[in-house]
Amino acid sequence: MKIIIPIVTTLLVVMSGASFNTSATDLTAKGLSQKGMQHAELFPGLTKLCDIDSPIRDLSNRKRSVSDNSEQRSKPNRNIQRQPIGPVKVFDNLYFVGTSGVSSWVLETSKGLILIDALNTNEQAKTFIEKGMLELGLTPADTKFLIIGHEHGDHYGGQGYFVDKYLTQVVMSDTAWTRMENNQLTVFSPRWGAMPKRDITVKDGDIVTLGDTKVQIYETPGHTPGTISLIFPVYDNGKKHMVALWGGTGLNYGPDKQRIQAYSDAAARFGKIAKTQEVDIFMSNHPRTDGSVKKLSLIKTRKLGQPHPFVLGTETAVKAFDMLRDCTQAQVLRITQQINR
Ligand SMILES: [Zn+2]
Repeated sequence: MKIIIPIVTTLLVVMSGASFNTSATDLTAKGLSQKGMQHAELFPGLTKLCDIDSPIRDLSNRKRSVSDNSEQRSKPNRNIQRQPIGPVKVFDNLYFVGTSGVSSWVLETSKGLILIDALNTNEQAKTFIEKGMLELGLTPADTKFLIIGHEHGDHYGGQGYFVDKYLTQVVMSDTAWTRMENNQLTVFSPRWGAMPKRDITVKDGDIVTLGDTKVQIYETPGHTPGTISLIFPVYDNGKKHMVALWGGTGLNYGPDKQRIQAYSDAAARFGKIAKTQEVDIFMSNHPRTDGSVKKLSLIKTRKLGQPHPFVLGTETAVKAFDMLRDCTQAQVLRITQQINR
């Protein structure tokens, strides 16, 4: 007895000490940022969100103003003049038709095509999306729906081309439509194509169905208030996988604690949903953010029987949302704790 008691006491002290230290560390901005950064190797495109030393990016002062526009017009626009990295058939039913700057995905169904995001301009929609579809053997006129992840023109700017030419129906969240209608966009470039006119409004939990394919829609405010994220099935040589496509990633409005908290909450919730749905692929709508640049090049040289570069397995794929949750929560704490604001 005399021997056992001290051992038990020691164990208890060690255990409670360990658990106290972990939570205490997590509750600091630095601790949470480090927790998020554990997954940096898996998702290098998300690491910017974990940076609590640089100022939080604020693009809202770049909104439409005549002087800004003339100054910006004289500079080459890297964002818009991106090179193509597609078109690439990535799964049996999913195709990349974007540029190196912005993604555009085509989901093929038994009753036509669903386009996810429309690039910056009508010219890009024609050059990259329409031409890409044709090169891949798809029929652009079959594009029934265009789902736009959020109310920024690098995702809606090419919509007019498909709406006018193919009568494609545009799908966005009510918040996104309303903000566009009320001229509330805080990030805007005059080079982007026209905003769409309200068409199909989706809300959290809605499903866009076309033929044999269902796309689940979740409202994930954060990058913008109207951001939606998607879950849908893809097939690799007939084997089913599930994609979670995060509809908007970067912070762009400075130290707005409430909005960043909403982001962190949305990432936490969507991550849980993705796990329940056994999502095994993480995607976003910029190819550098989700590693598509590298993965697309691997697809092009993939040999029969080799693993699919986009398929991570559920346990790994959902870590992207842990990273988004923790790093944005670190930013909230950093604002609260007045670190490097
Ligand atoms: Zn955006």
